[in-house]
Amino acid sequence: KNVDDLMKDASITISYLNKGIMDHMVFNAEMRNKIEREEVIEFELIRSYKDIKEEIIHLEYQPKVDAKTSRIVGFEALARMSSKKLGIVSPTEFIDIAEKKQLILPLGTMILEKACIFTRRLVDMGYKDLRMAVNVSGIQLLMDDFTDTVADIISRTGINTRNLELEITETVLLENYDMINAVLQKLRNMGIEISMDDFGTGFSSLASIGELNIDIVKIDRHFIQKIVHGGERNLITTDIISMAHKLGLTVIAEGVENKIQKEYLQRNGCDALQGYYFSRPVSEAKVMELLKEGI
Ligand code: C2E
Ligand code: MG
Ligand code: MG
Ligand code: MG
Repeated sequence: KNVDDLMKDASITISYLNKGIMDHMVFNAEMRNKIEREEVIEFELIRSYKDIKEEIIHLEYQPKVDAKTSRIVGFEALARMSSKKLGIVSPTEFIDIAEKKQLILPLGTMILEKACIFTRRLVDMGYKDLRMAVNVSGIQLLMDDFTDTVADIISRTGINTRNLELEITETVLLENYDMINAVLQKLRNMGIEISMDDFGTGFSSLASIGELNIDIVKIDRHFIQKIVHGGERNLITTDIISMAHKLGLTVIAEGVENKIQKEYLQRNGCDALQGYYFSRPVSEAKVMELLKEGI
């Protein structure tokens, strides 16, 4: 090889090295951004319950309707973060961080309280049988004093336990099945209904759900999205509905987005429906409007 060739090889090597360093730097910058964003979210979460006036976290409510009549039977409370620093942050992002940083306990309590306070207002307006569903994290369920916290919020807000439903996900059950199942039974004994959220995405099978202390199965929206006219994938949903009914459970479908899905679920005996087809999650003012005027 002559000198020119050697120089060329060297410069190729150097440019590869540079590229490696650059990738490394970009990677580090991305990591730093991610960590910084997490820290800001953590900070905002702490402020959300320390400085409640700013309303960093508020709730929106999505109606659940009776499959036969399309009448509103209840709502699901969904947490929203709007921060001056970050704008709107999705709950999948901030709930995850709250769980990782142990902030889900004070946050979860605040969310439950906000939902119950609003429910009390609706009950006072005459909607006595309305049911408010609140999502709870497995970390909350595993705290010794969870049922006391719930009982306390119910009595302070003056709602009836039948006005409250708690949504749990399958993931929490993996490691603490017996402990969680005992807590669920305590809550049910109080008169609170339990629903298994996102059913079908986790580990629970239809067989194991029979032993679980729940009242409602909520079919995950990924199954509902597969419902297309004449599609054979619909069979999974049909099986979940009939099996759950045999076990004496109520079935609700989440993520209903169109008429084909709605009519299919009605035909196959699904009890309740929830999704953009009926309404997106809405503000308190809009909830009252929906209750007055119907969907
Ligand atoms: P989830 O409990 O399964 O809530 C349903 C999610 O599906 C909500 O997303 C809702 O806005 C969305 N959705 C409703 N209808 C439709 C539809 O027709 N199509 C589609 N594509 N999506 C629909 P969101 O509000 O972004 O919440 C995401 C997740 O964050 C929730 O899933 C829940 O796991 C968690 N989350 C939200 N609020 C809370 C909370 O207060 N506490 C806890 N622990 N988790 C919460
Ligand atoms: Mg839910
Ligand atoms: Mg869900
Ligand atoms: Mg889901």
